[in-house]
Amino acid sequence: MRGAADGSVQPSGGKLSRPTSRGGQAGLVGLGGGVPTTLNRLLLILGDQLDRASPLLRDFDPALDALWMAEATAESTKVWSHRQRTALFLSAMRHFRDEQRALGRTVHYRSLDDEAPAATLGEALRADLSRLKPARVLVVEPGEWGVRDELVEVCRVAGRPLEIVVDTHFLSTVAEFRAHAEGRKSLRMEFFYRELRRKHNLLMENGEPAGGEWNYDADNRESFGRDGPRGLVRPLLFPPDATTRGALATVAKHFPGHPGKVESFGWPVTPEDARRALADFIENRLPGFGPHQDAMWEGEAWLWHSRLSAALNLKLLHPREVVEAAEAAWRAGRVGLASAEGFIRQILGWREYVRGIYWLRMPGYAQLNALGAVEELPGFYWTGKVPMACLRDAIGMTLENAYAHHIQRLMVTGLYALLLGVRPQRVHEWYLAVYVDAVEWVELPNTLGMSQFGDGGIMASKPYVASGKYIERMSNHCRGCAFDPAAATGPKACPFTTLYWDFLD
Ligand code: FAD
Ligand code: SF4
Repeated sequence: MRGAADGSVQPSGGKLSRPTSRGGQAGLVGLGGGVPTTLNRLLLILGDQLDRASPLLRDFDPALDALWMAEATAESTKVWSHRQRTALFLSAMRHFRDEQRALGRTVHYRSLDDEAPAATLGEALRADLSRLKPARVLVVEPGEWGVRDELVEVCRVAGRPLEIVVDTHFLSTVAEFRAHAEGRKSLRMEFFYRELRRKHNLLMENGEPAGGEWNYDADNRESFGRDGPRGLVRPLLFPPDATTRGALATVAKHFPGHPGKVESFGWPVTPEDARRALADFIENRLPGFGPHQDAMWEGEAWLWHSRLSAALNLKLLHPREVVEAAEAAWRAGRVGLASAEGFIRQILGWREYVRGIYWLRMPGYAQLNALGAVEELPGFYWTGKVPMACLRDAIGMTLENAYAHHIQRLMVTGLYALLLGVRPQRVHEWYLAVYVDAVEWVELPNTLGMSQFGDGGIMASKPYVASGKYIERMSNHCRGCAFDPAAATGPKACPFTTLYWDFLD
């Protein structure tokens, strides 16, 4: 095992080194028929780390090791989490726990349904370290700076330094991005993406990008035209099973006043479901994904999008599997290159790049406010009660499904907050709360950086700003709206257009 520059531990030769219980103050736990056994490694599995191939599990010894998982109230209250988001995390965690127990592994699990539920992850871990006295404590790189800090501190105080293992559920590592960033004046997604295309030999032919271009973005900006989207195939939904129903009951009990609806819950909660969702997307929606990825249509939540972000972020589905499935569909002639490349770029490019930015720039990144924006977030972001048709639709769907597609997030809700001058930290809290896929490493750079230009240009070369005319071109929202996207002043002035000119001023 070797220490990485960022303090994390690298698996050596694909395996973690065996624990050394003899030197530690190992405690006793009853395993297998009540025979007391030394607890050597306590392996922490966080709610977004449900990777069945986790490096922590690779050489799991049922006689010596145990898993630790905790549902903590603060994970749903530090931002005002959408009820569907919380239910998804709880259901996916409980599925993971049950599977691990069925494999004969000990899982120390704290549920919100316990008599005295844990307030925070740190509090739960502190109590369990003192009870279980493991010789070693390990975790895969957490997805949130604050959580990593909290766990490291609890373990330090308990005298068992936390060992942080490199996350193999990505297509690049934090160290790789750091090396890429070294000496560069600006960090653009495109260059890191090209490196990763080469590294993984994806959409490459004889060392060159397939079709001769790295990026087909210019082909991927079509609207639907007057008649709207044609030939949409509804995505495969996964109605709540018994475990999800249990999670929904927990949410109803503990977070009754939280935002959002749960009735539409249809998210994959296991790797098997996630793979079926991937196959459904590749078959039915990837072919239309490319040209229309920036288009919007009133009342259409999914269009040609994949709905895979939550499964990816909870680690139910490896990004390699997803990009390889898209590439295979292109090689088999089932989708065009612009669609396959456009989709692969989102995952191999944007997703890996934002993770790199997060770990490179945190913790200071979260406090940046390059434009000095100080307004509060308007209250209608939590209710959807607003006369502007585009915002009403995007926020309404968000509350209904805990989902909105990228252009709704960037060019409707994000754009309005940017033009209005809302403090980026308030915008960040909203985005972290309301989407099923919201985990800080991916949400924060997208919100504070890409959408709000709060980082002054680390993520984006210029602010993503537009007037109501952009929304008119990319959707049908303006047709049914009380405002006129072309008017910047007067009684029918579109607030986007007015604020756009104000922003430029
Ligand atoms: P598709 O449109 O089908 O895209 C395929 C996949 O590409 C997604 O599943 C996702 O994994 C990846 N992807 C696409 N765009 C991005 C991006 N910009 N950054 C990272 N990955 C990307 N994505 C999250 O996963 N979690 C978030 O909390 C999140 N917050 C966002 C906040 C804002 C303000 C913006 C503008 C974007 C945010 N995104 C976030 C990125 C993107 O909007 C979502 O990943 C996407 O809408 C999820 O829907 P989908 O799975 O149907 O994606
Ligand atoms: Fe949105 Fe303006 Fe169009 Fe109304 S007119 S839908 S507010 S862009």
